[in-house]
Amino acid sequence: MTLDDIRHNLAAIRDRIDRACARVGRDPASVRLLPVSKTVDLDRIRLAYEAGCRFLGENKVQEAMRKWEELQDLPDLKWSIIGHLQTNKAKYVARFAAEFQALDRLSVAEVLDRRLQQEGRQLDVLIQVNTSGEPSKYGLAPDDVAGFIRQLPAFSALRVRGLMTLAAFSADSDRVRSCFVQLRNLRDRLQQEAPDGMVLHELSMGMSGDFEIAVEEGATIVRIGQAIFGARALPDSHYWPQEPGAR
Ligand SMILES: *Cc1c(COP(=O)(O)O)cnc(C)c1O
Repeated sequence: MTLDDIRHNLAAIRDRIDRACARVGRDPASVRLLPVSKTVDLDRIRLAYEAGCRFLGENKVQEAMRKWEELQDLPDLKWSIIGHLQTNKAKYVARFAAEFQALDRLSVAEVLDRRLQQEGRQLDVLIQVNTSGEPSKYGLAPDDVAGFIRQLPAFSALRVRGLMTLAAFSADSDRVRSCFVQLRNLRDRLQQEAPDGMVLHELSMGMSGDFEIAVEEGATIVRIGQAIFGARALPDSHYWPQEPGAR
């Protein structure tokens, strides 16, 4: 894969995002493209940096931390952790990540906040919501999010920015779309009753296979891996343990 390939893929995705925005009358500047570099080696990550990427998403914190350590010569490259986090690994996120999109438990919020206070850092966080109802998906049930959010002001190092979801893995685009609609409606509702000072603006939804639907339904962040870096050799079941894998 060459620099030109990556530039071409990024431009093609950006173009598709912009056209999805145009279909529904949205400002294209309101959608952030987050390239997802899981399983992507350092050479290709350097090419992505050369192509202008300054913020990369990784599902697994240890893989992200190894890359962060080995790319210290690119100090303005920031990392977003987008995968489920075990409490005992929260300390790594607190050390280097700029964003964490998969907050789904108070125990993780607690450890993150304590470690961030020690490091003198703050972290942007999104709350992961299970909109598909698939038991294999991580995230809070939609009905549990309001109560969860009310507890978060206690953790002053966490800057709560919005919600994240993975849609159903389905060829039925109506089913996929309904997950995105559900997340947007939930965000709109929570925004009304959010604790003082908390602005739940972000909707992180949409991946290589479904990001145009997500943009039509209001995504402010799309997380895109394979459409930029090519198909992954590792099956998705490595990242979603109970998933059948195929999309
Ligand atoms: C891998 C991953 C993505 C990107 O998936 P692609 O199919 O490569 O676009 C998005 N979100 C999460 C949580 C991921 O782990």
